[in-house]
Amino acid sequence: MVHGHWLHELGLDGAYELAEVTPDGLDRFILGMRKAGYVGGNVTVPHKQSVFRLVARCDAAAESIGAVNTLWFEGDALVGGNTDAVGFIGNLDDRAPGWDNGAGQALVLGAGGAARAAVYGLLGRNMDVAVVNRTRETADTLARHFGPRVRVHSWDELLELLPRTDLLVNTTSLGMLGKAPLIIDLAPLKASAVVHDVVYVPLETPLLAAARRRGHRTVDGLGMLLQQAVPGFARWFGATPKVTDALRARVEADIRATSPVA
Ligand code: NDP
Repeated sequence: MVHGHWLHELGLDGAYELAEVTPDGLDRFILGMRKAGYVGGNVTVPHKQSVFRLVARCDAAAESIGAVNTLWFEGDALVGGNTDAVGFIGNLDDRAPGWDNGAGQALVLGAGGAARAAVYGLLGRNMDVAVVNRTRETADTLARHFGPRVRVHSWDELLELLPRTDLLVNTTSLGMLGKAPLIIDLAPLKASAVVHDVVYVPLETPLLAAARRRGHRTVDGLGMLLQQAVPGFARWFGATPKVTDALRARVEADIRATSPVA
């Protein structure tokens, strides 16, 4: 829907389609992309790591985040990139301008794929990052990978962390439709803090609703999904599309129609 919207808006002759590829069929599909007429594509679970061995090179973001989500050709070479961090930061810039104020302290809940993209983006914007995750070991691995500006804490430490937090980010799957809500007492959170949930179904998660009621600026995950699509489209079709209110409204309506409680 997103890429189709942009193709139509920009009057470009192209298509973005879904290809179901099994792990067994991955090599054949990727190595045959050029011949099949593709100029690139997105990669999603469970192939985001497996494609590393099939690309000629990857960009710094994919290398650091440890996952490829976008493919394009440079000459004959297939390149793998990761646009999630650009999407994450672009969404914050769009929905909460001035959120970083040059530097500051972010608190990231979760340590999975979305967290790695968030941390990569936040470090690029000079933020210090505290990570809290259910499985401590996963958070420790993430922190070792990204270096000393990332510190791991336990859930018990939230009370001390929240008053110093400028940006609170949920990257766990808690709060997603069908999952348990993320329940945190936001009372100690710094009054000026921005709260961002990368979950986008529902559009307003219980965490965002609670933050809004307390007067915080809130940012939902839909913008990240839309913004991460921009660099891929630009590489494939040679024109940089815009995330407009009209596009957002269209995708929001689709989410509401397919997940009525959202
Ligand atoms: P991963 O599976 O890589 O990570 C899941 C994270 O959630 C882990 O930190 C995991 O902790 C934590 N978690 C899961 N269940 C629980 C629970 N019951 N209690 C506490 N923590 C829990 O997933 P992703 O990082 O890829 O995705 C996470 C969320 O982000 C999803 O909802 C996804 O839809 C959303 N997302 C949104 C994007 C966007 O564009 N807006 C982009 C990518 C993801 P543990 O390590 O302990 O298992």
